[in-house]
Amino acid sequence: MIRIVCVVGARPNFVKIAPLVRHIKEAWSDTFEATLVHTGQHYDEKLSQVFFEELQIPQPDVNLGVGSGTATRQIAEIMQRFEEVLLWKKPDRVVVVGDVNSTLAAALAAEKMGIPVAHVEAGLRSFDRAMPEETNRVLTDRLSDLLFATEESAVQNLLNEGVEKDRIFWVGNLMIDALISHAQEAERSTILREMNVAAQQYALVTLHRPSNVDTPEGMGRILTILSGVEKQIRILFPIHPRTRGRMEEFGLASAIRALQNVTLCEPVGYLDFIRLMRDAKVVLTDSGGIQEETTALGIPCLTLRENTERPVTITEGTNLLTGTDPERVLAAVIDILEGRGKRGKVPTLWDGQAARRIVRVLQSRSTRREPSQEVPLSTTLPRS
Ligand code: UDP
Repeated sequence: MIRIVCVVGARPNFVKIAPLVRHIKEAWSDTFEATLVHTGQHYDEKLSQVFFEELQIPQPDVNLGVGSGTATRQIAEIMQRFEEVLLWKKPDRVVVVGDVNSTLAAALAAEKMGIPVAHVEAGLRSFDRAMPEETNRVLTDRLSDLLFATEESAVQNLLNEGVEKDRIFWVGNLMIDALISHAQEAERSTILREMNVAAQQYALVTLHRPSNVDTPEGMGRILTILSGVEKQIRILFPIHPRTRGRMEEFGLASAIRALQNVTLCEPVGYLDFIRLMRDAKVVLTDSGGIQEETTALGIPCLTLRENTERPVTITEGTNLLTGTDPERVLAAVIDILEGRGKRGKVPTLWDGQAARRIVRVLQSRSTRREPSQEVPLSTTLPRS
């Protein structure tokens, strides 16, 4: 058996781990003994539990229950609690995904114990160190011995940083595996009816990056953008809890709620969100994953940031970087409404087979051993 521990902590992680865990269970259960650890970084029902249900991810074997806090606190807490799991499980390898604090914390704890780390979604770079995720990406890649890349630019970034070629694997995109395998189910979503909108008659908005929502100026610009765009097309805006908190804090919540053609709601579940993306006229976002999903779906996407770590969505996909200048964003929306939107193609290897490729590498790069004699967890870690 090859013993691996997979770590998740936040919404985008759940989407990425689902196809991997599923493929191992369906095709490799006699080879891998997989443990799933949830750090508890996202604990909100709408950001966590709903994804386990809809993506049929097995309940985590351990929940570290770290909750919210500053980045330093979160990373330190995860490292301490995760170390106990590693002492208990003694895995052959730890698998981390994405770029959140949980990704870095788990990789660092594993590396300190001499356990090899595989990083899924390695090599993405925005080259913007003001973005908290960028540090997580760079450091996690440094700590990992197997690096799984979603796009060619990521492979090139790793090579430029001196990573040996034989540790880099261009395997495709787990998030797109999940999208492809749930597209049909999302057809049954009733979200459009519930929100009383028709296909192609709305813009879908999601925002949660600190650069957009953590300052009154940034949030003020978002308000100006929304009030310009709502005059052109109805807006649906599922609000991330972080963004909602900032809106209240900066006294802008009532102004946003007063916009007649903007419908605000809680974050929606995965299947409803796929449906909302698929039927949108345009998506405005600062999310990493949503830039990729819209490219895979062929839906125009405007990214309200100055840079992206996912350049293939620009060079090949439907994504356009607009920044947050309200006039620029409005002009881009009007272009799309008037049929001058960008068309794209689905990037290489975004074919729903990334999990297969990753597991094959994990298998070929590990040594099998006898099934584990389970040692009981000797600590008070909260088990989920
Ligand atoms: N998502 C969702 N409901 C929402 C907003 C997003 O299910 O209300 C999904 C989206 O389809 C994608 C993931 O959450 O799979 C992206 O997460 P997020 O934007 O939080 O993270 P990022 O990709 O920016 O790291």
